[in-house]
Formats: sequence, C-alpha cells, structure tokens
Amino acid sequence: MKKEIVLFFMFSLLTIITAHSQRKEVPKVTILKNGFIFDDKFELHKGSLVITDATITAILYDNNLSEYVGATIIDITGKYVLPGLTDTHVHLATVPDPDREKNAKYMNDQLSKMIDAGITTVRDMTGNAIILADYKRAGNLNQIPAPSIFYAAQFAGPAYFNSIRKHSKENKDSPWERTITDTTDVKMAVAEAKGAGVTGIKIYADLSARLIKKIVKEAKRQRLQSWSHAAVFPATPTDVASAKVNSMSHAFDIPYDFSEGKMDHHKKPPAIDDKKLDKLLLLMKGNNIILDATNYMAHNNKFFDGMKITKRAHELGVKVSVGTDWPYLFEEVNSTPLFKEIKILIDDCHFTNKDALISATKIGAESIGLEDRGVLAVGKRADIYITNSDPVENIENLKDSFITIKAGIIYTKK
Ligand SMILES: [Zn+2]
Repeated sequence: MKKEIVLFFMFSLLTIITAHSQRKEVPKVTILKNGFIFDDKFELHKGSLVITDATITAILYDNNLSEYVGATIIDITGKYVLPGLTDTHVHLATVPDPDREKNAKYMNDQLSKMIDAGITTVRDMTGNAIILADYKRAGNLNQIPAPSIFYAAQFAGPAYFNSIRKHSKENKDSPWERTITDTTDVKMAVAEAKGAGVTGIKIYADLSARLIKKIVKEAKRQRLQSWSHAAVFPATPTDVASAKVNSMSHAFDIPYDFSEGKMDHHKKPPAIDDKKLDKLLLLMKGNNIILDATNYMAHNNKFFDGMKITKRAHELGVKVSVGTDWPYLFEEVNSTPLFKEIKILIDDCHFTNKDALISATKIGAESIGLEDRGVLAVGKRADIYITNSDPVENIENLKDSFITIKAGIIYTKK
C-alpha cells in the first residue's frame, strides 16, 4: 500500500514536470508587423517587433519575417510603438477601504484604467504591503489587468506617526510603516521591510540628516532603493540630496531649502532663491538623483513653484520622472493623471514632447532601479504601448490608444 502511494506521487510529479517542460518548449511568438518603432531617444524607425513569451527578441527593419513561420502576426501599419509608461508616484493602498469587496473593486478599476492608458509599471509610494503584494502577484501572474507594481516601506519619525495615527485603527508599526528614532536598529528595520517585498524605503518625514544617511547606506547595502520626500523636516532638501537617495519627490517642497532658521512644514515654503536652487539641483544631478516632480498634484493644490523648479531642473540636466500622486478614479473615463503630468512638463516646464516621453518611460524605469524595461530593445521586457497616431508630433495623440502589452500579454481597451 505504502509503496503504491509513493509510486502514485512519483508518477504525478513526473506528469507535472513533463507538462511543465512541454509548455516551456513551445515559446509563444508574436510579431508586431510594420509599425513606427520609437528608439530610446524617441526617434522613429519603421519596422517589426518580435516578442517571444514576455521578452522582445528582435526588431526587424526590413520586415523580413520568413524565419518566423507559425508566429502570431499583428499588423500595425501606420501605428506607433512606445515602451510601456511608468507612473513613479501612486498610492494604491495607502488608506484601503475597510470593506473588502469595495476595496477590491477600487483596486481593480484603477489598475485596469492604468493598463488602458498604456501604463505598464507603477511605483507605489507607501501603502499596505499585504494588499500591494497580493495585487503585485495577481498582476505578475496575469490574473488581472494591472501594471507591474513596485512599492515602498514608509520610514518616519515618531512626531509624524503620532499625528497621523490618532484616528487610525492600525495604529502600530509594521515592516512597511516604521517609526525610526536614534535607537532604532536600522539594519533590522530595512531587513524587515525587504521581507515585506518592498523595492525601496520611502524616507517620509520627521527624520534628521544623520538618520537619513544611515537609512540610505543600509538600504543600499541590502540592495534596496531610497526614495525620499524632497523636504523631510528637520532634514532639508540639501541634506536629502547629500545623502545620495535615488529619487526626491515633490518639486514644490524644494524651496523649503531656502528657509531662514528652522524649516517648518506648517508654513508656506519661501520664494525661490535662484542661486541656491541651482546649487541644490546641481548637487542632485551630481548624485544622479531623479526628481519625481508631481506637478499635477501640486497644480491641483495651487503650489505653482514646483513647475518653475522642474523647468530649471530640466535645463540643468537633472532627470525628471513622471509621478502623479493623484487618484486615477478621480478623473473622467478617458483622462489620466499621468497624461496631465506629462502635459504640464511640456506646457509649463519647457520639455519637448520627446523629453517628456523619455521621462515617462526610460527615466521612470530608472527611478525604480529597473534595467529590464523603459526602452524598446532586444532582451527587454515586452512592456509596450501602441497608439494610432504619433505622440511626438502631438502629445494629445498619446491618448489615441490601440493596445497595451505587458510582459507579452495583449490588453485591448474596453
Ligand atoms: Zn505621495
């Protein structure tokens, strides 16, 4: 009897292994035939793009498809092929709805809205890691239409958490929401955040320059990114930039750097000091820090200085990513915060259409530390957005979507 059971299990295991390897042996090849393909500088090239499973395996400029017998061909004549877009500042699960069904609807609706808009990657800047991990997994397994989700653990001082947790039911620390003081074991805090599946530590508020340096150093050692608010109070934007974080969020907070005496977030930030601004922006550039400007959110809150700062940052060569920090379901059906953020870069910050599109793709991927996406090239993930008309010629055409492809899976807009 015992022997039979063992044999049965061995047989089952063998069947699974065989089935699995058989599935692996037949790669799925899809060809996007005869379109306009953008390179990493957003120059156009006419050609066809070959996708094998989840990866771009060839870009053919002669449209000779003779070696691809049996591939699925999608004719994209006259259409425009871009890398999938990245929103570098979203909050999917920061205040989850206590009703599970309502929360699931909220998550699914906004994630599919992102996919429809060509967004294949998002960076979530603090939220409940259990919920985020669940949706990240569901998206990775293609169980739901969703961009790839990368998320952060929120590190802040006690004054911040005391003020926000007064009315919260979940009013204690967790690996993704951590009070940091001078006595915190930062090594362990970072390790626990990593255990919760985060890609970065979000340096949020109420931390000293010394503590920020310590967090950044430890995060780097444990191969995590450091994503910081521009002004952390008491640490200034210059302190944050000196700590060599990977990115700084909210351009409109940068003028706090010019405060006389102690910086205070209850007060409006001072006017821009051009000399000091250039000094800070050049420090950011030298330390390869990406500015996650979030101008659309700032604009909605009437913080207009953010745009002037973003404009100057771009002139000086600081990399700027496209992060919205604005809920997707606040917008009408065919409108997305990401598109509005891109529009502000072009209309108010003197970005060319090409520059803004590079920010929304290549720099977006870089701001999460991802080397496998952000440009259309052999070996990169097949994260692709296809439009019916040319967004470089007119940025409004970015809304003229044909299909979104994420990891080789095709999503047609509903
Ligand atoms: Zn935010």
